[in-house]
Amino acid sequence: MKITSVESHRVRIPAADPPFAWRHGLGGSAPAGDGAVLKIGTDDGAEGVALFSRPGAATMLDDLVERVFRPELIGQDPYQREWIWHRIWELDRIEELPLPSLGLIDTALWDLAARASNQPVWQLLGGYRESIPAYASTSTFETTEEFLHVADQCLELGYTAIKLHAWGDARRDAKLCAALRAHVGDSVPLMYDGSAGFDLPDAVYLGRALGDLDYLWYEEPMREFSITAYRRLAESVNVPLLVAETSDGAHMNSADFIAAGAATFGVRAGTTLRGGITGAMRTAHLADAYRLRAEVHGSDIPNHHLCMAIPNTTYYESLVTSSTVVRERHVDASGLVHAPRGPGIGLPNTLEYGKELQSFIEVS
Ligand SMILES: [Mg+2]
Repeated sequence: MKITSVESHRVRIPAADPPFAWRHGLGGSAPAGDGAVLKIGTDDGAEGVALFSRPGAATMLDDLVERVFRPELIGQDPYQREWIWHRIWELDRIEELPLPSLGLIDTALWDLAARASNQPVWQLLGGYRESIPAYASTSTFETTEEFLHVADQCLELGYTAIKLHAWGDARRDAKLCAALRAHVGDSVPLMYDGSAGFDLPDAVYLGRALGDLDYLWYEEPMREFSITAYRRLAESVNVPLLVAETSDGAHMNSADFIAAGAATFGVRAGTTLRGGITGAMRTAHLADAYRLRAEVHGSDIPNHHLCMAIPNTTYYESLVTSSTVVRERHVDASGLVHAPRGPGIGLPNTLEYGKELQSFIEVS
């Protein structure tokens, strides 16, 4: 089988309403209408797709396909994922490709292979489980009362664990985390995600508070440029750290966080920032070797598959975008997410996800 077409299709993605805020000063939603699908076709009709949804995604992907991806891929065997994965990193040396674009071809090729063999990607990877608990991953709300009200709704809807994205003010956030712990009691697993809002002194202050409050993990409190800063943080706090979410270099970078003793809970493993499905699985296996967790990052459909194939992940991340909480449609009343059943990744032409995505794809 040979790759015969590589296309970029612009897609329209509805704006989040209200927009998701990772913390004060860091709104995260891509603008409506700004997305793209990479579509890879072959001489025997097999096809695979991957969604790229970042600000500027459509223009970026049009350019990458024309200049880099198509010339590289035409004539290649789509089952040679390892060779192609390494080739992308070679091209990155010159191009400095946007991090979320590094795994796009890989994800599309996993979709292609799984569709061609009529099974979901998680099964082709080697299935581990068929359901996993979802945690409620909150947007940043304005007041403590609002956060507590959101927590009540999440628990009522079946979520069994809650992760806060909060204001990014170490002292105020520490008080919020204490109020939430007092409100929900000791038995609910709680996590905190700093979205890289702190320097080391503030990260230590908040981390000590989170340790006292028995938070399950403390995620990305600082930009992930300095592994030394993370090592010092790990030496100064009791709360376990979940790191290496946005740093470049896939498992090769995660390895250094682990070697430095900074990944005291584990590392992040998602398709978007760890080099697609192949990069995320490498990262998960690396962490497994050190008996650490590789927590799947993000609620995209490919990450849903990863949750079913990675033994050392605990939860599926389910975003809570509004203070009137709506349970994500594939989280059940017990707070569980179940394995996708259709062939491939399910984007855009299989089962429930496909139907939903299809509704906002404009074929171009
Ligand atoms: Mg995060």
